Amino acid sequence: MSLRVRGPRAQQFVELLSRYCGLSLRLVGESVSKNPDGLINPNVSDTLQDLVEEVLYSPNLVEIVAFGGNREPAVFWLDSYDGSPAFQLPARSVFVGDFNILETFLPDFARAMMGHVLREYLGAARPPGTPASRMFDDYHDAAMRTEAQVMGDLRGLPIWTGNVRPWEANYGNINVRSYGPGMKIQMFLDADGSIAAVRGP
Ligand SMILES: [Zn+2]
Repeated sequence: MSLRVRGPRAQQFVELLSRYCGLSLRLVGESVSKNPDGLINPNVSDTLQDLVEEVLYSPNLVEIVAFGGNREPAVFWLDSYDGSPAFQLPARSVFVGDFNILETFLPDFARAMMGHVLREYLGAARPPGTPASRMFDDYHDAAMRTEAQVMGDLRGLPIWTGNVRPWEANYGNINVRSYGPGMKIQMFLDADGSIAAVRGP
């Protein structure tokens, strides 16, 4: 299996992922696998569920370091792809606490963002023994599309196609994410960078 999760909140991350994707996942050591006897929740995003299976059966290695709360919301949000030596954060760090915050505001958005993170990390993943790609930007566009698809699945709404692609932009303290003609997210940030509110479709 090619999803490895470590860090102080590894178990919580796998439980969160399991709940989001509807597959019964288990963590043995640092390896995530499907529990063959586990129940599958059918009321989830197919895009996210398929993505998790794609990660689990990929020949490439997706590694995640799971932390709890994010102590530096002005610097990080949700994850840090490259990590940060200044903050003692390893590459591919993910904050379970930030997912929990999103879930309190808009549960579907938390799932969409899980799709974003996994698509990005899978895109950059390489076979075991080979470092993950550092061409982060190459995978962000694909991740935006996956993020939009997850929200589209959950809301039964179309995403942008053709020349218009799902996009995000920052306007002052507002992060806007546009997934489709009727699907826009607005995330309002406090002065310290923490999330004050999320408005969605
Ligand atoms: Zn991204």
